[in-house]
Amino acid sequence: MTQKPVVTRFAPSPTGALHIGGARTALFNWLYARGRGGKFLLRIEDTDKARSTDENTQAILDGLTWLGLDWDGEPFSQAANAERHIQVAHQMLADGTAYKCFATQDEIEAFREEARANKTSTLYRSPWRDVAEADHPDLPYVVRVKAPREGATTLSDEVQGDVTWQNEQLDDMILLRSDGSPVYMLAVVVDDHDMGVTHVIRGDDHLANAFRQNLIYTAMGWDKPILAHVPLIFGPDGKKLSKRHGATGAAEYQALGYPAAGMRNYLTRLGWSHGDDEFFTDAQAREWFDLDGIGKSPARFDTKKLENLCGQHIAISDNAALLHEIEAFRTATDATAFTVSQRDGLLAAMDSLKERSKTFPELLVKAHFVLTSRPITPDEKAANSLDIVHKGILNELTPQLQTVSWSRDELEGIVAALAEAHDTKLGKLAGPLRAALAGRAVSPSVFDMMLVLGRDETIARIKDACG
Ligand code: GLU
Repeated sequence: MTQKPVVTRFAPSPTGALHIGGARTALFNWLYARGRGGKFLLRIEDTDKARSTDENTQAILDGLTWLGLDWDGEPFSQAANAERHIQVAHQMLADGTAYKCFATQDEIEAFREEARANKTSTLYRSPWRDVAEADHPDLPYVVRVKAPREGATTLSDEVQGDVTWQNEQLDDMILLRSDGSPVYMLAVVVDDHDMGVTHVIRGDDHLANAFRQNLIYTAMGWDKPILAHVPLIFGPDGKKLSKRHGATGAAEYQALGYPAAGMRNYLTRLGWSHGDDEFFTDAQAREWFDLDGIGKSPARFDTKKLENLCGQHIAISDNAALLHEIEAFRTATDATAFTVSQRDGLLAAMDSLKERSKTFPELLVKAHFVLTSRPITPDEKAANSLDIVHKGILNELTPQLQTVSWSRDELEGIVAALAEAHDTKLGKLAGPLRAALAGRAVSPSVFDMMLVLGRDETIARIKDACG
């Protein structure tokens, strides 16, 4: 038997922006499909008209795009498929797996009150379940599924294992409301079936829904997808991740300047493991990702780990690609675009900038020396290191810089000799030199800066500062 090609989906409700939990769900689905030559589909679950907005949909698409999670084909709109959802409910009516229920709200409430008084289950048991069509009144009705009332249902979940529910805990849930509109639970199943979804990977807050959705698959005789309900993400204090813990939206992480590759690596590790591997590339993640590696207990969000991985990804990035991503970050945060000479400077300095930078803002602080131009205004800290004594020493350097061959070894050599001549250490000259070249206390090494700036600019900056 040939295996069906894998089809996964991410099905966000556009009632808010893309949060970290949703981004991780999308990422798991994307990795699972991409690692198996499958399809990753996107379905916008926009049936809650009051709370769904186009802005939220756009924010979700933007968040996925930033993370590099490309979906196959156009995004599906769940609301646009309502006719098909209704058609399936009618099919179930015709098949006898669903029925029309004419109970009024008052009758349902009376049922519940009595159940509460008798301490029996408040799950509504409609008296219309077995009433023949001929005996139906000409009144508004809802369509309910005929759920089994005895026995138990076991769903096997790739993460949770076998999960069993007593069927008496299932109610005859509504499929079509009295205005004929389909409910969300029906829409999800019909869409997953019609889209050919083979694997449903989502948050474990949907595990209970899986039992209700299972009724519809059974009623329609449809193939059931493989289920994987992933534990939610917790904050460092072991409570469900929320605003209290800091940034929770994907866009917030983008605005904080985390590189997408580092974010993908971190989110992949958040609740999934492959031995002891912490740092990996996209290609490795695609190759390694599987459902077995998903942990059963909630993972805790750890900003330090995220930053550590982001730093490693920045360090191995291709320089031109990195600049491109930094420019996208600037656009996303409404910062001014770089000039041509700033871009050139960044590219020339990138090897030294990308070492030990965990975020783009951190990298850009170090990049100040190529982003600024003469005359450089030193900040307070830098200005303080340029005292009269050190200005004097640096002034002695400029004639030597005119003739030295412009290599790291030679430059280190003359600065070390200068330090020795003044009975001081090379490290003691680095501060004032850094202040003259960058106007800042944070920058790449002075020799890296000199090599990037070149002879004329280096000498000019020292003369500006010490002249
Ligand atoms: N729309 C649901 C949500 O945003 C997801 C439903 C599903 O994955 O089945 O939580």
